[in-house]
Amino acid sequence: MEQLKMPKDPTLTFHSDQCMKHTYRKNGQDVVKPIQKIVLDGKAVCPRCQVEAQTKELQQFESDRADRIEKLRKYNVLYKDSLISDDTILTATFGNYTATAPEEIENKKQMFGYWERLKKGEQLNIILQGSPGAGKSHLCYSLLQELNNYDRDVENPNDKKTCLFINVEELMRKIKHSFKFPDVKYTEDYLIELMIGVDYLVLDDLGAETGAIDTDKQASNFVQRVLYAVANGRQGKSTFTTFNLAGDTLKKMYDGKVLSRLMAGKNFVVFKETTDKRIENLPF
Ligand SMILES: [Zn+2]
Repeated sequence: MEQLKMPKDPTLTFHSDQCMKHTYRKNGQDVVKPIQKIVLDGKAVCPRCQVEAQTKELQQFESDRADRIEKLRKYNVLYKDSLISDDTILTATFGNYTATAPEEIENKKQMFGYWERLKKGEQLNIILQGSPGAGKSHLCYSLLQELNNYDRDVENPNDKKTCLFINVEELMRKIKHSFKFPDVKYTEDYLIELMIGVDYLVLDDLGAETGAIDTDKQASNFVQRVLYAVANGRQGKSTFTTFNLAGDTLKKMYDGKVLSRLMAGKNFVVFKETTDKRIENLPF
């Protein structure tokens, strides 16, 4: 018979009751193994039940801790892994997007509408088109912040969604750099995997990367390759793309499949009249 270890406490007293909850296997059958209860703080308790309860509590504590770490990791993807060219974007919120012209007011409202739908779990792609500085990146980053904060406290870390903001020019610069220095963190494979993996992705300033990579033929090939991999890998996920170029120019630049995948659903937010808000706000 298995001996139950008892604490070496001189004041330990056994109780006449036995706990009948514990069993062991014998010849394929569960056999009850009575455990003599002890008196603890004037109450009869089963020492085996005590140990099991403590173990369970400890396991729960450890699992809660792992959940918190996983949720925090996912929350931090936006702040740790985004590629941003202009740091002022980091403070962007819907609240500090100043909309005065009718078009701005309308576009902000439209973005709010999308936010409401995304919050309910709907998948949708959004395309923001317009001149530089119209506030497209601002609105997209605001949307990501809202999404990232919205499910911050979900119970199950599997339900926490991840957000990522990628400036396309910065992305291509990083990948091009890795061709010469393959040991860096930001390689083509790493970045593609990162962009495919997140739940919400902003591709900021599509088309501007052509300035960074000149007319290098090979360079333009890798841009196509990267965008194709991302657009293909993200089917069924929400991607928000901004660009300054006219639609026709974009069509000449990129594979039709890339564009059709990024623009699936045709949710366009267009700035036709809004001039550069950054220039507008200069103090002269
Ligand atoms: Zn027991």
